[in-house]
Amino acid sequence: MQTAYYIILGFAGLCLGSFFNVLIWRIPRGESTIWPASHCTNCGNKVKPYDNIPVLSYLILGGKCRRCKTQISVVYPLVEILTAAALVAIWELLYIVPLQQPWHQNVVPLLQAVSIMLLIPISVIDIRHYIIPDRFTLPFLAIALAVSFIPGGLPPVQSLLGALAGGGSLFLMGVIGTFVLKKGDAMGMGDVKLMAWLGALWGYKAALIGIAFGALFGSIAGGVMILTRKLNDDHRIPFGPFLGVGTVAAIFAGEPLLAWYLGLFGG
Ligand SMILES: [Zn+2]
Repeated sequence: MQTAYYIILGFAGLCLGSFFNVLIWRIPRGESTIWPASHCTNCGNKVKPYDNIPVLSYLILGGKCRRCKTQISVVYPLVEILTAAALVAIWELLYIVPLQQPWHQNVVPLLQAVSIMLLIPISVIDIRHYIIPDRFTLPFLAIALAVSFIPGGLPPVQSLLGALAGGGSLFLMGVIGTFVLKKGDAMGMGDVKLMAWLGALWGYKAALIGIAFGALFGSIAGGVMILTRKLNDDHRIPFGPFLGVGTVAAIFAGEPLLAWYLGLFGG
């Protein structure tokens, strides 16, 4: 029984990842996310349902469009696999029990699960385009603040405090960064709105620790990129993926990681 449960959950995750691939391509281009159906971005060939099976179709077609044989990015199946793995893990970590009574106890965990899952398309979009679209951040910030009035999550004051701490601290870092580096956009407003959303959902502690972890992971990645000369000309590093990973780390392993993090400075 348990195995069947995970297989269904995993397959749902692959399909969700397939939908994320649509979002990743279309949202930065301002295209509709539901119409038209999936098509090859090179020749416009409509993808037949039997060629649209997550991961499997990619393997069968050898990563090429059936009609024009254009190479399809390996990021597509990777997003699907990552989404499936994340869905199974999060389902366990957030203790989501379908149809659990009373109903409102499911609202906050479900919103948290959706928010964590959305970090996947947000990260890929940020890596490719250096933006975090408002179409993700603003509605979910509003929803996160609204559900604080439903029992089971953070109280409204804590939720608001979390949004202010998450968004505000990044905004301040951006202002200071602009002043010190004399660069126009040291911190993207997309990052600010992302952390306001996550802060509203998990509170100020998770947001602040998440930003600290994100900055650490980002610095490590930046250092590696400088050493391997992989950094692009304008030295930009998308911060969104690091903020996402940092906040997820803060949520699920905050205390042991924080002890280790502080140990880096204090010894
Ligand atoms: Zn094609």
